[in-house]
Amino acid sequence: MKPPPFRHVAPRTVDEAVTALAEADGHGKVLAGGQSLVPLLNMRLAAPSVLVDVNGVTGLDGIEVTDDAVVVGATVRHRDLERHAAADAALPVLRQALVHVAHPVIRNRGTVVGSLVHADPAAELPAVLVLLGGHVDVVSRDDRRSIDAEALFVAPLESSLRPDELAVSATFPRLAATTATAVRELARRHGDYAMAGVCVAVDRDDERATVTGARAVFIGVTDTPTLVDLGEDLAGQGCHDLDTVAAVARARDAIDPTDDIHATADYRRHLAGVMLARALADAATGREDA
Ligand SMILES: Cc1cc2nc3c(=O)[nH]c(=O)nc-3n(C[C@H](O)[C@H](O)[C@H](O)COP(=O)(O)OP(=O)(O)OC[C@H]3O[C@@H](n4cnc5c(N)ncnc54)[C@H](O)[C@@H]3O)c2cc1C
Repeated sequence: MKPPPFRHVAPRTVDEAVTALAEADGHGKVLAGGQSLVPLLNMRLAAPSVLVDVNGVTGLDGIEVTDDAVVVGATVRHRDLERHAAADAALPVLRQALVHVAHPVIRNRGTVVGSLVHADPAAELPAVLVLLGGHVDVVSRDDRRSIDAEALFVAPLESSLRPDELAVSATFPRLAATTATAVRELARRHGDYAMAGVCVAVDRDDERATVTGARAVFIGVTDTPTLVDLGEDLAGQGCHDLDTVAAVARARDAIDPTDDIHATADYRRHLAGVMLARALADAATGREDA
């Protein structure tokens, strides 16, 4: 199918981009990697009159690794971040999650910030942003603000950005050196969206080889990414002999999966628990996720 007619605008600066969005008066859409938006246009599930193509905007393609965070510009592709050695050293959970995003051809084009703003409940990066307590910086013609992860995801495919706002960067805060992460998910075919997945952070006392805290955010089983604190169930346990039964039960109670053509809600809930137990063991023992 072909998309409905639209005007294509190719700004060179952030100011030009947000001016074009303001002038579109609620009928404009940012075009980043196009990996989600173009299918929506072709299926006529979206019909913006103006596409503001930000791929040529200068200054949005940087990855900055600071003492506190990894900051990713709006036109950084999944693949750029996945292959960024300093970002991987600072926050391994980024690459752990990115390798699960679709196929390399899609990761070559799709953007990290676009994935966050698109707010797909089956996407990996929104869960990572919530796990880390990150934020997105957005700009409009008259304003500039930061949106914390927990305020960004409103509903499936709905973020709290206004139609005249451009997200210019995402900030992923670094974790303590004693905190390890893992991402586990299961998809029917390699590269598909996960039927259920999870990313976890486990705080460790490495001298005693014990867990001191843990939290998880599920992928594909909740409408929006939700942080589940598992510290009460896991703190004090040995890293190499974790008993995850109570943590899995708590987490399964916190999620509300639905039936779809790929899986029943019950199967999804079961799968989410299995993925959680595996991810916790990965992070507690320092294994890389599978
Ligand atoms: C076959 C297939 C499989 C996929 N599998 C996965 C998967 O397993 N996991 C996963 O996470 N994703 C998956 N994706 C989606 C992919 O990761 C997309 O790249 C991503 O969701 C959107 O990024 P994009 O840059 O392509 O955004 P676009 O498609 O350009 O835009 C998506 C939406 O976000 C808005 N937007 C984008 N950037 C900005 C910005 N800077 N400011 C304001 N609004 C903005 C757009 O207006 C649009 O509404 C898949 C896609 C395909 C086609």
